Amino acid sequence: LNNTSSNFIKSIVKEDLATGKHDQIITRFPPEPNGYLHIGHAKSIVLNFELADEFGGKTNLRFDDTNPLKEDTEFVNSIKKDIEWLGYEWDGYHFASDYFDEMYDRAVLLIKKGLAYVEDLSQEEIREYRGTLTEPGKESPSRSRSIEENLDLFERMKNGEFGNGEKVLRAKIDMSSPNINMRDPVLYRISHTTHHNTGDKWCIYPMYSFAHPLEDAIEGVTHSICTLEFEDQRPLYNWVVEKCEMEAKPKQIEFARLNLTNTVMSKRKLKLLVDENYVDGWDDPRMPTLSGLRRRGFTPESIKQFCREIGVARADNTVDVRMLEHFIREDLKMKAPRTMSVLHPLKVVITNYPEGEVEWLDAEINPENEEMGTRKIPFSREIYIEQSDFMENPPKKYFRLFPGNEVRLKHAYFIKCNEVIKDDAGNVVELHCTYDPETKSGTGFTGRKVKGTLHWVEATQSKEAEFRLYDSLVLDEGRGNDFLDHINPNSLEVAHGYVEPNMVDAKPNDKFQFFRHGYFNVDPKDSVDGKLVFNRIVELKSSFKL
Ligand code: ATP
Ligand code: MG
Ligand code: MG
Repeated sequence: LNNTSSNFIKSIVKEDLATGKHDQIITRFPPEPNGYLHIGHAKSIVLNFELADEFGGKTNLRFDDTNPLKEDTEFVNSIKKDIEWLGYEWDGYHFASDYFDEMYDRAVLLIKKGLAYVEDLSQEEIREYRGTLTEPGKESPSRSRSIEENLDLFERMKNGEFGNGEKVLRAKIDMSSPNINMRDPVLYRISHTTHHNTGDKWCIYPMYSFAHPLEDAIEGVTHSICTLEFEDQRPLYNWVVEKCEMEAKPKQIEFARLNLTNTVMSKRKLKLLVDENYVDGWDDPRMPTLSGLRRRGFTPESIKQFCREIGVARADNTVDVRMLEHFIREDLKMKAPRTMSVLHPLKVVITNYPEGEVEWLDAEINPENEEMGTRKIPFSREIYIEQSDFMENPPKKYFRLFPGNEVRLKHAYFIKCNEVIKDDAGNVVELHCTYDPETKSGTGFTGRKVKGTLHWVEATQSKEAEFRLYDSLVLDEGRGNDFLDHINPNSLEVAHGYVEPNMVDAKPNDKFQFFRHGYFNVDPKDSVDGKLVFNRIVELKSSFKL
């Protein structure tokens, strides 16, 4: 696994450097600050930053903030934080809105060249005039306005003389082009809205398809990498760069966006989940946002390796979300301390163990990484085991605890179940067992074998903890607009149980492997003031193979 494997974009870059078209490449990551970044954005971040890095180039972070209605400084800050968390450093740091003056001047240039005009038609009329794939568009009456009149009207648009939607500026290209994007696309619209960066300076704002090529060209971006939906816009992108007489000639290259199974991957939809309280904020551990994945316990390394491994192609596909889980297991396997926790406790009294006595047993911290050493865990007359590790009337091949059966307690002794205590309703509330001192772990006891090994915690020393167990937020791809109908009602299960006493020292975002339960992260928001909260990152095993 490495980032030096080849892809079609690297081939283009190599060629452009070899032919001397560029001495140095510049890429950019251009998020719109209208939401938090998600794992799909990570694919673009890894691609842009590592591409530039590999070829000694630069990568700019540029906020594509041309739509004042949706953008906010909260999102700017979260985006910066997420990119830094992934471990990348941007070269240039820009806001598209810093270029509004230059964009305005370039629009005026287009008007002067007879390549843009002010349109009086409504949005709906413009759509009607535009035609369809099989029918050419119709020219608007505004198209024949004189250059002088267009210059005057555009300036008055800028000066606030018209209301929202009353006029737009359009490119004059070709109303019968087979590419609908070329049928006199809108370049500027009126929006009397305060902008997060420029305040009330502007009431006209450039459209994405006009602004984006200019932004790239102004910054000298050489390779402008975007997702496949923009393929049909490439002729317009090139038209803008050329007709606006931009010195730099960036090349737009499209690649397939990341789709993940059982994952909603659109800021608009994720925002809806937040705004309608389906989740507890953008950083809810079930969210595919980078802040959600971080809070869940994913590491930057696991996300980057995932992004490198899925590769870059031009064909749309959907990646199994279990592949992402594979990479966090890989990353944590050697690093995360192992420990025992009981999520759904059942009390066990070891009747032949001396009352009031506590012994401290040795336990390895990570059998796959001996350097991590050992820890001490308490054992006494009262312990907790997992409710699901006991059955009064077990089926065949159940090797855990049942009346008369003997099992091994991890790092401790064999215990045998002698008596089942129930409440008035008939629920099992306690087990009475006996232990065999001869069977102590680490003494090399070989006298007899048992088939089941259970995890457990000692009852008087262990710490209470909350465990949050997650399942996918949506039951399908979440791609349709009816995704709210496919919300998984069981995406969060909260359990209350116990962890080993040394866990009181656990800090926010510390990661552990809980024996048999999976990898967990100390919740950075709610695990405070002695109240321990653990988020399950992922279970231990998966049928998924790379
Ligand atoms: P969304 O539809 O989720 O809002 P977007 O493309 O509108 O996504 P931007 O903020 O414009 O979001 O995206 C910034 C960059 O991230 C763009 O270059 C875009 O191509 C890329 N990007 C967004 N989503 C994905 C994805 N799922 N896979 C790969 N790249 C993506
Ligand atoms: Mg976008
Ligand atoms: Mg978007």
